[in-house]
Amino acid sequence: MSETGPATTAKGPASSAQQAVPATATGGVTQATIVKKTAPKSDYKAGDVSPQRRVQRSFTVRLWSVRHSRFLEWFYARFADMFLLLHPVWKGIGYGRVEAPVKFVEKRVKGFMFDCRMCGQCILSSTGMSCPMNCPKQLRNGPCGGVRANGNCEVEPDMPCVWVKAWEGSRNMAHGDKILAVQKPVDQSLRETSAWLRVTALSAAEKEKSGAAA
Ligand code: SF4
Repeated sequence: MSETGPATTAKGPASSAQQAVPATATGGVTQATIVKKTAPKSDYKAGDVSPQRRVQRSFTVRLWSVRHSRFLEWFYARFADMFLLLHPVWKGIGYGRVEAPVKFVEKRVKGFMFDCRMCGQCILSSTGMSCPMNCPKQLRNGPCGGVRANGNCEVEPDMPCVWVKAWEGSRNMAHGDKILAVQKPVDQSLRETSAWLRVTALSAAEKEKSGAAA
């Protein structure tokens, strides 16, 4: 019998659904291989739908951000300056009104780059561009005691420990020692709000205060 030939049973020829035969009966070739080999050939290739591969891909972008933390630190400083320059615009329209569209963009950009969870109190500049909200324990001040020997997380063994990466990223940054500052606990009331706008409004208020004092 050829590997792809019809299987027969004691009751006669098997239907196509019954042609699934054990690998041992096909000389070690699995049914999946047979299906793949006999599938019609075309230029189309199915997209990668494996959840495991998808997870790895999201780590890939997250890890890229950590590796390029110095550039992102520089870029974010320019971006924050630009946002601050636009303070009169935000104020004129109303911070409350612009929050929805700004949050829409912020969530997608930071979600793609850092797997951001929109805690609303971004500290990426102090954590080597590694988002601490991806730590399953949501630790904001360094790793727990369970980091694996390979540097991965004790809770999610396939994920590099967020704080190991934070330390690595911080070592590339001009102001990487900000990682040593003690962070406050997460204020849950700020969840799903725009950190970009909040930081801008705070900086503008400080600027106005120091301008008035001078
Ligand atoms: S190993 Fe790292 S990422 Fe995992 S829970 Fe501990 S600190 Fe968080």
